[in-house]
Amino acid sequence: MANPLFDRVLPERLASRGVTIDTTLKIAQLSRIAAIIEDEMAGEDGATSASNWSELPVQIKLAFRWADERECLVQSEGEVSTSIVALCQRCLKPFEMPLWASLDLLYVEPDVEVATESSFEVWELEEEFLRPLDVVEEALVLAIPFVPMHQSTKDCTSLVETAVKEKPDVQNPFAGLKQQMQDKD
Ligand SMILES: [Zn+2]
Repeated sequence: MANPLFDRVLPERLASRGVTIDTTLKIAQLSRIAAIIEDEMAGEDGATSASNWSELPVQIKLAFRWADERECLVQSEGEVSTSIVALCQRCLKPFEMPLWASLDLLYVEPDVEVATESSFEVWELEEEFLRPLDVVEEALVLAIPFVPMHQSTKDCTSLVETAVKEKPDVQNPFAGLKQQMQDKD
């Protein structure tokens, strides 16, 4: 049976059939996300490229239905969660960053205005057909922070080194201490 995530179908068809997707993919199957990670890691050494970032699981829950009684508007409910490997912009080390995005969306044609009293985000339909995986990937791309960083500074292993490198004028208070300890040896 074909996976409805990968099919290009009329959004109305997804709603009228009440298509529900509850599946787990791998990052490698999300070509846009995989390309972004690959770009990011391009300058990294072999140790990182050998890591299995493309095998990380992507959990997807996505259910389509009509948003209104007249069955004009299509909506989806769901969420996608995964982890991607990113370069921490503080310590420049790769790390696994959890990523989550809501898939509560209202599908609207570009020239149609809708009252946005619901918490659903408006998704502009650029073409007649919709590929649910494109929606999932777009939501994830938008969820990637502009400046990925380790959540805890404790995980930033070279934080101290980086800070010292960035501010060569500031004297390292530990430099003297280190020297003293070396002198003892
Ligand atoms: Zn870091």
